[in-house]
Amino acid sequence: MQNQTLWLKSPAAIFTGNALNAGNGLVIKGNKIVELVPSGMKPKIHVDSYIDCSNQVVTPGLINTHHHFYQTLTRAVPGALNKPLFPWLKYLYQIWKNLDEEMIYTATQLAGLELMLSGATCIADHHYVFPKGLEQAIDIQVEAINSLGCRATLTRGSMSLGKSKGGLPPDSVIQDEDTILQDSQRLISKYHDNSDDGFIQIALAPCSPFSVSTTLMQDTAQLAKENNVMLHTHLAETEDENNFCMQQYGMRPLDYLEHCDWLGNKTWLAHGIHFNQDEIKRLGQANVGIAHCPSSNMLLASGICPTVELESAGCNIGLAVDGSASNDCSNMMQEVRQSLLQQRLRYGAEVITAKRVLGYATTGSAAVLQRPTIGMFDIGMQADLAIFSLDELRFSGVGSPLDGLITCGASHVDKLMVGGNWQIENTEHCALLSKQIMDKHQYLAKKLQSQNFVL
Ligand code: ZN
Repeated sequence: MQNQTLWLKSPAAIFTGNALNAGNGLVIKGNKIVELVPSGMKPKIHVDSYIDCSNQVVTPGLINTHHHFYQTLTRAVPGALNKPLFPWLKYLYQIWKNLDEEMIYTATQLAGLELMLSGATCIADHHYVFPKGLEQAIDIQVEAINSLGCRATLTRGSMSLGKSKGGLPPDSVIQDEDTILQDSQRLISKYHDNSDDGFIQIALAPCSPFSVSTTLMQDTAQLAKENNVMLHTHLAETEDENNFCMQQYGMRPLDYLEHCDWLGNKTWLAHGIHFNQDEIKRLGQANVGIAHCPSSNMLLASGICPTVELESAGCNIGLAVDGSASNDCSNMMQEVRQSLLQQRLRYGAEVITAKRVLGYATTGSAAVLQRPTIGMFDIGMQADLAIFSLDELRFSGVGSPLDGLITCGASHVDKLMVGGNWQIENTEHCALLSKQIMDKHQYLAKKLQSQNFVL
C-alpha cells in the first residue's frame, strides 16, 4: 500500500501518547501517519480504504527496552526457582554456558514473536553470554529479527570478569576485553542503522558491575562515544549489587558508573531500583534512561523502581519485560498492567494512571531508546501501531475502553503494523510462524536444560 491511504476509522478509544485529538482515527500512507482525525470529523485527505475500529482500541506500537531473548529457553527451571538474583544467576550460568547458534536464533524468534503478539513493534535485547562457538550471536539475532519484521535495538553485551578474578559468572562464558571491543566495532559498522526510523540499531552493553572489568566499562564508553551509539547495562537491581560494588570498588554502583564515564543521555539502565535521593538527582541531570521491569523485580523480590522520583528528576522511563528466566513471559501489555499495579502501591491510585503506564511503554520507551519517530501518533511519525479487539469476555461491559485495556488485562493484539506493513492480522503473524518456531523451541529448551553441569 505504498501510495494508498488507509483510515483506521472511529476507534472505541485511541491513545496518541500526546495531547493531540485523534478521536476519529488515523490516516496512514506508505510507512507514515499523514493525518489525525479529531472526534466528530472526517479525514481531510482522500482515503482509498478504511478499517472500522469501533470495537477496538488503537495504541502506538509498544516498545520493550530490556530483555534477554535466550532466557526463553530456561523459563521456570526447577533449580533456579524461589531464589534471589545472585544464587539464581549462579545456577543458570551453568545451563547458559551450553547455548549454541540454533538456540539463540530460535529463542530470538520466539521472544520477538511473543512480544509482537502482545503489541510490541520495537524490541531491545541484551545478549551477554558468549561461550565458545557462539561468537556470532548478534549476527544470528539480526537474521532472526529480520524474519519477524519488527524493529530492534540489539545490544552487544559482554562479560569479562569471571569467577577466577572475583566476578560472578564461570570463566567459560566470558571473553577478553580486546575480543569484545573488536566485535563491538564490527557489529556497529555492519548493522547499526543510525537513521531516525532505522529498523536495526546496535548499542553496547557490558552486563553489570559484578561481571565486567573496570577497563572494559571505560573502553566501552569510549567506543560508544566514537560511534555515537547508546550504552546499556543493569544497575541498582539489588542490595547485593550495592554491597558487591562497595567491597570490590569501594563505591556505590552509581559512583562506579560515573567513575567509568557512563553518566550521560546516551545511557539507559535496566531496573534502577536502589538509588538514594542524591543519586536520583544526578541521574536526572544527566538524562539517563531507565528500563522499568516490574514483573522481574517482583519475581526476584528485588524491589520497586522509584519511577515518579526518577521522572521528576529528568530521567526518561521506559517499560521492559526483562529476560524470560525472571518474568517468565514476554508480554508487553501484561507488563503495562503490572506497572500500574506495582507502582500504585508506592504512589497511589491518583498518580499512577492507565495513560501514565501506557506512556512508559510507548513515548517513554521511545525516548529511552532515542527513537524519535515512534512511540506516539503525530503527522510524519512512523506507522507503528497496535490494535486490540474488545470482542472478548474480559472486556464485556467496559466503561472506559482505554482504562479497561489495562485493568481488564488485554494480552494480545488483533493487528500489528510496523512501518506501514501489517505483521500481525487476526492475532497471528502474517508469516504463520508461531507453530513451527514453538515446536523447535521446545525441543531446544529440553536439550539445553538436560545437559549435565557442575555447580
Ligand atoms: Zn536483565
